[in-house]
Amino acid sequence: MRTRLQAAFEARHDPLTGLLNRSGLFALLDDTLRQDGKDAALVTVGVDNLQQINAAYTHTAGDRVLIDVAEMLVEVVGTRDGIARSGDNEFSIFLTHADTTALTDLAVRVRDAGATNIRLGAQEFPITVSVGIALASGRRPGELVRDASTALHQARDAGGRRWEFLDPGVAAEARRRLTIQSGLNEALDAGEIRPWFQPIVDLSEGRVRGYEALARWIHADGTVVTPGEFLPAAEQSDLIIAVDRVMLAGALTGLGVLPASLHVAANLSAATLADPGLPGYVDSLLAATGVDPARLHLEVTETALLRITPDVLEAMRAVAALGITWWVDDFGTGYSSLVHLRDLPIGGLKLDRSFTAGVETDASTHHRLAHGLLGMARGLGLLTIAEGVETQAQADALHAQGWELAQGWLYGRAGALAEREAPGAPRPGSGPSIK
Ligand code: C2E
Ligand code: CA
Ligand code: CA
Repeated sequence: MRTRLQAAFEARHDPLTGLLNRSGLFALLDDTLRQDGKDAALVTVGVDNLQQINAAYTHTAGDRVLIDVAEMLVEVVGTRDGIARSGDNEFSIFLTHADTTALTDLAVRVRDAGATNIRLGAQEFPITVSVGIALASGRRPGELVRDASTALHQARDAGGRRWEFLDPGVAAEARRRLTIQSGLNEALDAGEIRPWFQPIVDLSEGRVRGYEALARWIHADGTVVTPGEFLPAAEQSDLIIAVDRVMLAGALTGLGVLPASLHVAANLSAATLADPGLPGYVDSLLAATGVDPARLHLEVTETALLRITPDVLEAMRAVAALGITWWVDDFGTGYSSLVHLRDLPIGGLKLDRSFTAGVETDASTHHRLAHGLLGMARGLGLLTIAEGVETQAQADALHAQGWELAQGWLYGRAGALAEREAPGAPRPGSGPSIK
């Protein structure tokens, strides 16, 4: 005799695959979307050519294909939880937290694992699957299931063995990011990611004191891509750590070429900061290049510092102990408290360029904010650097307030460090030349 428990299980599960059935999926969606469905998504998978198999062979053959696909999905996802047979030829994977990168990655893996051959009698029959993705973003369960299914049909109509997001804008963005990520990997290997150097000057004398190393992707055809275009994609994966390491090495190479009186600042992302290998890597670069660590500054954004862990703090201290100075980048945008900064091993603050714009007007809010932030930095004994200086009026105002160093288009844009310029120190305002 069937128990009540068994009956309840059977009402929610598909007898062929053992996965949740459509009503099981709806129950799951009902529960989850009502509580916290902000970042949820549904990935729906269907066999492209199931009808042909059913027509050419038997439904038993079709059932075997469906069982294979169910097993493949469980293997790719790593669990049966959240996987359902949501239609005759539709499976759905419900994810409670997924960004477009993770979804794209899953879609690609399912598409690739789903492309196989199945032996039917004496013949091998090729099977392919397509994938449709819809983000929950406020959708109700019925809408989410419908929209992921629509995306699946779009993928199948476009030729099969494909994946589609419901929203074409999301799909285009996801593809662009994938292209950048795969290209970036090769670009790193090929040495196409290189630092360009932007001068940092002394506000009292206008002399170049050093440079900030800014990442550029220089394609083989000479096209230069700025970090705004490739760093967001790199930040979605560990590639950002590789970019930062390449840039650090480039910064040290630059220091080796520049006069010994000049410094270089390099940028580190939050992921690089959290990488336990960072202090060792920096140490090995210093040993390999023989550069004086006092000439290297590492910039980390105020926002990244807000989420600092004890391990990261320790790593920062280890790096500082090597003789390198930490600078807080984009200062003024992260709402840090004095208390927070006091505990960090930092030596300088870079005023975010949003404050520099407008600083020349005495009565402006930016003027007062810049002044307030300067007082705070001085109170902590930090070196002060203002970014984004585009006009002489801004430079004068910052100098009058007491800012020590400045960086911006007024003094020069970032450019390749032409080795032939060294070792003669660059003249004020000249900056490195662009190769
Ligand atoms: P950031 O560290 O705040 O760098 C300053 C950005 O402001 C640079 O943009 C620079 O070209 C731009 N800039 C400099 N002077 C002026 C000016 O006078 N006016 C205006 N409007 N802009 C100015 P870039 O090179 O596109 O870099 C953008 C951001 O990318 C950087 O902002 C930094 O956050 C990030 N980045 C660059 N290189 C690296 C890197 O190697 N690693 C990491 N993690 N991030 C990097
Ligand atoms: Ca910076
Ligand atoms: Ca900055």
